[in-house]
Amino acid sequence: MKLSINIQVNYMSDKKMARSKVYNLLILSLLIITIIAILLQRFSLNTSILLTPENTENVRFIGDKALGGESSVTLTTEDNKWLLTCNIKKSNYGWPFCELAIHFFEEGNTDVNQGLNLSTYSQVHVKAKYLNSPESSIRFQLRSFNTKYSQITNSDTWKYVGIEYWPQNQKSTTIIPMKSLQVATWWLNQQKIPIQHSAPEFKNVMVLELATGNNMAQRQHLLEVEYIKFTGKLFTNGQVFFSLILVWVTAAIIVLYQNITHSRSKLTHSKLKAQELTQLNKLLNVETQVLKDKAERDPLTGALNRAGIQPVFTKELKKLSLIFIDIDHFKTINDTHGHAIGDEILKEFSKSLNENCRSTDLLARWGGEEFLLVCPNTVLSDAFALAQNLRSIISQKSWVNNIKMTSSFGVAQRGDESASDFIERADKALYDAKARGRNQVVLSKPSIHLNPY
Ligand code: GH3
Ligand code: MG
Ligand code: MG
Repeated sequence: MKLSINIQVNYMSDKKMARSKVYNLLILSLLIITIIAILLQRFSLNTSILLTPENTENVRFIGDKALGGESSVTLTTEDNKWLLTCNIKKSNYGWPFCELAIHFFEEGNTDVNQGLNLSTYSQVHVKAKYLNSPESSIRFQLRSFNTKYSQITNSDTWKYVGIEYWPQNQKSTTIIPMKSLQVATWWLNQQKIPIQHSAPEFKNVMVLELATGNNMAQRQHLLEVEYIKFTGKLFTNGQVFFSLILVWVTAAIIVLYQNITHSRSKLTHSKLKAQELTQLNKLLNVETQVLKDKAERDPLTGALNRAGIQPVFTKELKKLSLIFIDIDHFKTINDTHGHAIGDEILKEFSKSLNENCRSTDLLARWGGEEFLLVCPNTVLSDAFALAQNLRSIISQKSWVNNIKMTSSFGVAQRGDESASDFIERADKALYDAKARGRNQVVLSKPSIHLNPY
């Protein structure tokens, strides 16, 4: 039994090790995924949108005539470059301008989400310059649509988000960070936009505009535009971190669930183990009792043996009486009926004594056909009465094979003496009973002969 328990313990610890290995592996994998995701987000996973004459449709050129101005404008394409020829003229309209507009929506389409989502882009590279007026400014503008304040049929309600800048280097591109684009205050004012909608938005851009700046000289301006390029990340930092947190939380939930399931099965296992051990304990108790009985009981009659009766004499019991019993002429019974019948009688004799005394009395087979009946809390006269009763029952009973027999009794009450002296006194009384003709009870000291008849 011990061996099987040990094997179980080893098995459990192996399992535990395997589990902690899996957990370590899981944490390592999560760490690697996290680091890779952060590095990819930082140095890779870029995306861009390039707008050139070659790949861009829906390009318009607009002057201020529709607004009451007199500036004229034309747009040509050469060497994959746009060339906006703009004649700025002062008029009643106060802000003369020309512009190149790229539409990301279709005329007549009423879909409110047809614009371009530029929210993951962080920069816009604009390669544009004036060929004949390098000191002039350019306005870069995006027009955002939001159903909260825009109408699809009225482009004036599309938010103006832009910047006016002076191209510094005639050759290279101007890089405009998206976060430096501002919402035009005149537009906020004109549309009476509430504060919560006054910030720049890039989720649904309908139009990109590249226009001449304010205070342009009254003459022809040639604005050459090579490309407009938006660069940014495929995913926003928020999206990446949210996904990573989701992965960690999912892993944590799985591990937690596994742990709970594991603890439950461990608990069930422990309960079963405890039940098994309780059962085992019971078995051992039974076995111990059997062994104790074997050591302390006579196998033939089931009465206590000398070792079994011994403890009662070591207890400090007042009024302890002892009846020493011996079957009369038992040898003759053996000789006449055989040893097996003799055994049967011994068994029956023991049973009969047990049945006719109190449950607190202890019966022991002292040897052969001699028995001791030890009676705690019994004075000599009561023990004498009991012995007399037993003597009478034995003599009147028909035993196996209809055998009739008697027995002799020596009775003593314990005085201030050793166990062996006490037993010897009772034995002596028994000897006297034999000597006096058997089938009688003799009291020890003062030795009184009581006539049974
Ligand atoms: P008394 O009246 O003087 O006691 O005569 P007795 O024959 O009973 O005494 P004795 O001591 O001469 O004989 C005892 C007999 O008990 C002898 C022996 O064969 C028998 N005996 C002892 N133990 C056993 C046993 O376990 N089984 C059987 N069948 N007989 C036993
Ligand atoms: Mg005898
Ligand atoms: Mg004898």
